[in-house]
Amino acid sequence: MRKRLVAGNWKMHKTPSEARMWFRDLTAHLPQTQAEPALLVPFTHLPYAAEVLEGHGVHWGAQDVSAHTEGAYTGEVSAKMLADLACQYTIVGHSERRSYHAESDALVAEKARRLLEQGITPILCVGEPLEVREAGSHVEYTLQQLEGSLQGVNPASPQHLVIAYEPVWAIGTGKTATPEDAEAMHQAIRGWLEGRYGADFAGQMRILYGGSVKPENATALFAQPNIDGGLVGGASLKLEDYIKLLTA
Ligand code: 13P
Repeated sequence: MRKRLVAGNWKMHKTPSEARMWFRDLTAHLPQTQAEPALLVPFTHLPYAAEVLEGHGVHWGAQDVSAHTEGAYTGEVSAKMLADLACQYTIVGHSERRSYHAESDALVAEKARRLLEQGITPILCVGEPLEVREAGSHVEYTLQQLEGSLQGVNPASPQHLVIAYEPVWAIGTGKTATPEDAEAMHQAIRGWLEGRYGADFAGQMRILYGGSVKPENATALFAQPNIDGGLVGGASLKLEDYIKLLTA
């Protein structure tokens, strides 16, 4: 059985003090749920996440990490620093980083390896842009991205790698993939993972859907057999919505 993961990607929102209050509110209103909550927040918010969320069954982590271990890399944050703040997860290869920061598959794979070296689970994002979906080559495109982004990425257990399928055309647009379209891609991804890691291993790995997930569509998406939760942007910023997603 795969435990559902409801991961909030806050992107560049809220100040650290706002985040601290939000975390406190969450711990006060945490619903009874089978789902695992996780919040991927800006680096500056992580000490507060560690302080407030510890012991409440909520995990936290960052949205990016350096591909280097340590050294003269101004502005970078290492996996070791994230591990010191008890990050359980960290996003790599989000489409916003792939497009605005020109991150290649090879770089994304390096970042994922740095995280694994520190015992942090990468949430590795893949997904096609609109023109690729319209041309009908979304499956090939996404699987190729997966292959490049997982070069040398060998998690010790299926719990140490999470894949997020995020079609670029569904991110922040209000357009969600239909549950059937998303499920078809998740099936293809799981099939590919079976070839890469073996059926047993791949059967235990979680594949999240991301792109305009909200309380109104989450139940139908999460009900699909190969959708093991969500990577949620906008709807994870409002406590009320996030709580609804945890019980969707
Ligand atoms: P939205 O939920 O705001 O569409 O963002 C999705 C996303 O990019 C999560 O990583």
